[in-house]
Amino acid sequence: MYDYLIVGAGLYGAVFAHEAKKRGKRCLVLEKRSHIAGNIYCENVEGIQVHRYGAHIFHTSNKRIWDYVNKFAEFNNYINSPVAVYKDELYNLPFNMNTFSRMWGVRTPAEAKEKIAAQIASLNITEPRNLEEQALSLVGRDVYEKLIKGYTEKQWGRPCTELPAFIIRRLPLRFVYDNNYFNDRYQGIPIGGYTRIVENMLEGIEVRLDTDYFAHREEWNAQAEKIVFTGMVDEYFDFCYGSLQYRTVRFEEEVLDCENYQGNAVVNYTEREVPYTRIIEHKHFEFGKQPKTVISREYSTEWQLGMEPYYPVNDAKNTELFSKYKKLAEQEKKVVFGGRLGDYKYYDMDKVIEAALNTAEAEL
Ligand code: FAD
Ligand code: UDP
Repeated sequence: MYDYLIVGAGLYGAVFAHEAKKRGKRCLVLEKRSHIAGNIYCENVEGIQVHRYGAHIFHTSNKRIWDYVNKFAEFNNYINSPVAVYKDELYNLPFNMNTFSRMWGVRTPAEAKEKIAAQIASLNITEPRNLEEQALSLVGRDVYEKLIKGYTEKQWGRPCTELPAFIIRRLPLRFVYDNNYFNDRYQGIPIGGYTRIVENMLEGIEVRLDTDYFAHREEWNAQAEKIVFTGMVDEYFDFCYGSLQYRTVRFEEEVLDCENYQGNAVVNYTEREVPYTRIIEHKHFEFGKQPKTVISREYSTEWQLGMEPYYPVNDAKNTELFSKYKKLAEQEKKVVFGGRLGDYKYYDMDKVIEAALNTAEAEL
């Protein structure tokens, strides 16, 4: 008998398992993939840490979480500063004075604000009701049309008018010349990759890989007092109310015989006609000097059964459907649901760690 059966060896499951073991609990972790670490899994290719399920930059303003994660890895001083390519134009992200200066030839914050105000004056947006209105009211029509509309519609497969405003508020908007993609106090990439963090968290804990909980759920349930479930909440309930929607990403990876392909870790392609959303050049996350390079093009599509569910689509329809599953989840007294899929939330890593620590404290 185990105290906790933990379904999923991603960040949430690993933090919970670590905390439970520390408090003397017996844990068993099940993972259906053939490796631990969930979506933060990294693989060494040509001496370069490749983020197998998409680029991950750790950032947080929560000192407690920063100190916690630093117990499991040392972080470098990488600062994310993506660039956006629109046709033959190149812009700095996030939206800041470098972007506005390149877009309009303006030099001062007052000039940039004036431009934006003039572009949205006729729209009268008081309370943005969707991503389009939110973006227009923040950065004006030119930036919206060139840097947001095409990218967002490729990424989410839905018109910007049908997406929630909060998605675009993830990005900083500032009227200073500062290309740091995040506003957070702490930022970096773990030296040696993310997998090691999860490896260290799971040290001394029994993990079974290639094991899908649903293949023998009754048998697993019988072996533990409680379950921590970090898979898809709708799958847990056999999709009884229908399927929640997710976006998945196909990564087209190439090893190139050149030292430096694009000069930056992240280059976004914001026009609709380029089929991928961004190209990641992994070595730049670690200031790599290897003779070769590895790049990944990201193609975003709608999730279907059998694919990896990466992004919950937190629009009105899915939020309502999730609230029904949440009610069911609250009735499962033996099960705690957590993580990006269990909570159906667009969580960053720091928020996942925080949620897992809070659950562990409440539970244990
Ligand atoms: P997951 O990592 O998905 O782990 C869940 C695990 O459960 C998986 O390994 C899965 O295989 C397993 N599982 C599911 N069902 C079963 C089952 N039935 N039986 C057994 N095992 C099961 N966050 C940031 O902070 N910064 C970033 O730059 C960033 N970039 C991202 C880029 C992409 C493309 C994506 C998709 C996410 C990004 N994130 C980023 C978010 C980050 O990946 C998540 O916050 C975090 O990894 C979620 O951890 P988790 O444990 O909740 O989920
Ligand atoms: N976004 C955009 N243009 C860009 C980058 C981002 O319009 O060049 C929008 C897009 O809607 C995206 C959202 O901002 O989904 C959040 O971007 P973020 O980089 O946080 O997305 P993630 O890294 O989670 O894919």
